[in-house]
Amino acid sequence: MEIVKDEPMMTDDPQPPSKSSVRSSEYFQMTVKPLLEEGKDGELIDWLKDIGLLRRSQKCTNSECQGLKPMDWKRARIVDKFHWSCPACKKKASIRLDSPLADFHCSFKIILDTITAWCDGISLEEYTKENKSVKGVIAKRIYTTCTTVADWYMQSHPDLSYLGGENSVVLVDTFPEGCMTTTPHNNNYPKRVLCLADTSHMPARIWAHIVDKNLDYQKLTALVAEHVRIGSTIVASPALYPMLHGMKGMAEVISVEALMALDPADYQRSLKNLETIWKSTVSVCQDIQNMSTTEGEQILRELEWRQVFPSSLAEILHDIASYAASRSA
Ligand SMILES: [Zn+2]
Repeated sequence: MEIVKDEPMMTDDPQPPSKSSVRSSEYFQMTVKPLLEEGKDGELIDWLKDIGLLRRSQKCTNSECQGLKPMDWKRARIVDKFHWSCPACKKKASIRLDSPLADFHCSFKIILDTITAWCDGISLEEYTKENKSVKGVIAKRIYTTCTTVADWYMQSHPDLSYLGGENSVVLVDTFPEGCMTTTPHNNNYPKRVLCLADTSHMPARIWAHIVDKNLDYQKLTALVAEHVRIGSTIVASPALYPMLHGMKGMAEVISVEALMALDPADYQRSLKNLETIWKSTVSVCQDIQNMSTTEGEQILRELEWRQVFPSSLAEILHDIASYAASRSA
């Protein structure tokens, strides 16, 4: 059986990268960090304009100017180091006015540091504990915005919720009762999650959906059929296999057990590889157990987004700008 052997995940179970190594993501190091140095305010702001996080122009809202006067960009003794100023009536406005950063009441450096921490998967609690200079309420607002934006991106790109295709292997399992993790855990979690992983991408692309605890296998099969492209090879958990093995249009449907049987000497290793693929999904499935279904679904879409954009900083900055533009359009 070549299927799993060809997977890049067959390499040794990688430890999650340490925080410092994630933080040294190339984009942060090469692009963002140099702009956060002392005296680089002008360049930082030019860059924020370039990526769409600050406006390039602003019209004066003073009634005498009737929104016709383009405002000037002036240096000022304020946190942002600049403000908008009307050449006619001298009215001032924040350079964040009508920008995606308007609600984040802290320095640009803190905003970018906080977004980077969100990208690195550092929990809000951990981040605010380690960064006393960041107000908890502001950090929370930034984290929430990132999640909202990732969720919006996934919902506006429905094609990303279809996985597999010819020559692709899609894993299908359910949490908590499937075989996504070898770690003993509570099987009585209130939420059951149907999880698909397309292993032709690295990291595997995920589609995960909260399903009714009592949802019958026929309905689960229909959901799988809806989200897995024709021509895929499906590797199903032992519980799902009997329902999925006759699925039409698939190259092949294999059970995890059969896959393991082909590779008896490496049984534990194969299980570990599956576990590696599912690792972040299992973690999120555990996190959402006490959330509302709506909130849980949002966090699952954030997970899907993170799997599509593993080096996510440049993408989330771009998406925050696009999201704001879509809201004001
Ligand atoms: Zn004016």
